[in-house]
Amino acid sequence: MSKQKVLRLNTEICNECGRDVSPGSGLFINRIIDFDDYKTRKIMNKPFPKGGYICRECDEKLNNIS
Ligand SMILES: [Zn+2]
Repeated sequence: MSKQKVLRLNTEICNECGRDVSPGSGLFINRIIDFDDYKTRKIMNKPFPKGGYICRECDEKLNNIS
């Protein structure tokens, strides 16, 4: 039993488009934290379930679906 391998499931990418939203990427400022966990995002069929964020562009797209 080793605790050395801690899986970092939340990476600083948009879970919709996979783009980098880390500081300095240009999408950092308007990124939105996605409070769903990895499992939930998998179930929701997110293209990039590891991403702990949604960029502003994707958020707008998601909100415009009617
Ligand atoms: Zn995005």
